[in-house]
Amino acid sequence: VLTRTAAGRTIVRVDGESIQMRRHLDVPVLRQNLVNRRISSIRRRGKYLLIDVDSSGVLLVHLGMSGRFTVNRPDAERLPHTHLRFGLDSSVELRLVDPRRFGFADWLGVDGEATDPSLSRLGMEPLDDSTSQNLPPKLIVRRSPIKSVLLDQRLVAGIGNIYAVEALWRARIHPARRGHRISLQRASRLVHEVQQVLTEAIEQGGTTIRDFAAPEGDFGYFAVSLQAYGRVGEPCMRCHTALRDRRIAGRTTPYCPSCQR
Ligand SMILES: [Zn+2]
Repeated sequence: VLTRTAAGRTIVRVDGESIQMRRHLDVPVLRQNLVNRRISSIRRRGKYLLIDVDSSGVLLVHLGMSGRFTVNRPDAERLPHTHLRFGLDSSVELRLVDPRRFGFADWLGVDGEATDPSLSRLGMEPLDDSTSQNLPPKLIVRRSPIKSVLLDQRLVAGIGNIYAVEALWRARIHPARRGHRISLQRASRLVHEVQQVLTEAIEQGGTTIRDFAAPEGDFGYFAVSLQAYGRVGEPCMRCHTALRDRRIAGRTTPYCPSCQR
C-alpha cells in the first residue's frame, strides 16, 4: 500500500514536531533533505523501512510496536500521536502515527545505510518479544562481566550505560559478575528488567539526564526515576548500603555492594 501510494511521488511538504522517539525525530533535517525530492522506491530490511529519495539518500523508518503510516487528505483530521506528515504531489498526506514512540524516522543520507548501527549490526532489538526468550541463554555463556555483555551492541542493540546500570540494580545482579556465573533464571529476570527500564524510559518521556544523547548507544531514550545511576555514595533504595562505583566497559557503574550479587 505504501509503495503504491508513495513510490514515484514527490514530497512537497514535511511537517511535524521534533520530539523524542526511539531516535530523536529531527523535522528540520527531514524537511531540508526531503522537500522537492522524489521517492524512488520503498524497501524493507528486517523490521525497517527504507525510503529511497532520488539519489540523495535514504530515510530509515522503524514502526516500533505501535507505529503505522496512514494515507490521508491533507485537511483530514489528525489522529492523536501523529508525529510526522509528508505532503505528496498527488495531494495526499502520508502520516506517521505512533502512540508509544518506539518507532523512529531518521535521515541517513547517502552513506548511512552501510554504517547505521540498527542496520549493520547483528544484535537483537531489546524490546522485541523474541528477545526475552533468546537473550538470556546468550548472556550466560559469556565470560565477561555481565554489564559489558549487556552493552555489547553485536549481541543486543540499544541498551545504554544508564539502562544497564538500572536494570542490574533492579535484578540485584552485581555488574562485574561474569555471564557464565549467572543462572538462566536470573538472566531472564535481568532481561525482563532491561525491557522494563527501556519501556518506562520511553513512556515517561521527560528527563534530567544530561547524557541521554550520548553516542555510546543510549539512542536517545529518556530516563526518569533512576534508582542507581548518579547515586554513588548515596544509600541503596532497597537496603540503605552506600552505593559504590566501578568502571566497567569503560563507563561509570554504580552498584550496591550488599544486595547486588
Ligand atoms: Zn542494596
